[in-house]
Amino acid sequence: MGRLPDFPIEGGCACGAVRYRLNAPPIAVYTCHCTDCQSLTGSAFSMAMPVLRRDFEITQGEPANWPRKATSGTVIPQRFCPDCGTRVFTEPPGGPHSLTVRPGTLDDTSWLHPVSAFWVSSAQPWVRFADDVLQYETQPTDFVPVMQAWKAWVEG
Ligand SMILES: [Zn+2]
Ligand SMILES: [Zn+2]
Repeated sequence: MGRLPDFPIEGGCACGAVRYRLNAPPIAVYTCHCTDCQSLTGSAFSMAMPVLRRDFEITQGEPANWPRKATSGTVIPQRFCPDCGTRVFTEPPGGPHSLTVRPGTLDDTSWLHPVSAFWVSSAQPWVRFADDVLQYETQPTDFVPVMQAWKAWVEG
């Protein structure tokens, strides 16, 4: 685990009202370049860090919920700070045992290394991907290769 920080690690929203703790390493770190992520972040792409729910705890504040309806019709709760609006995590419907932290909210982001990129078909034209980044035109139907790429990177 030489490339990971010592756990637990902490993070929170921009104003500090919502704080969380992550007690164990994440399942993966990847970027998503879909147009929904572009509008949700007001930026070029989002960074995502799926974690096991049991490893994640809110230590301060009460995140608000926006139940976003995806184009597929699936409702994906977006949990954000009610004061400053920072999106802290989302609750993907596919996994009752996991949730997706927006890892830019971590106190220390220096170790983050996205191993995969989703929706490269709608990536901003100036975005460049490193050779070792696992790229998907849309999103993977099988998440296992992404988890394997993450594990390989962690073990260095
Ligand atoms: Zn806040
Ligand atoms: Zn996306």
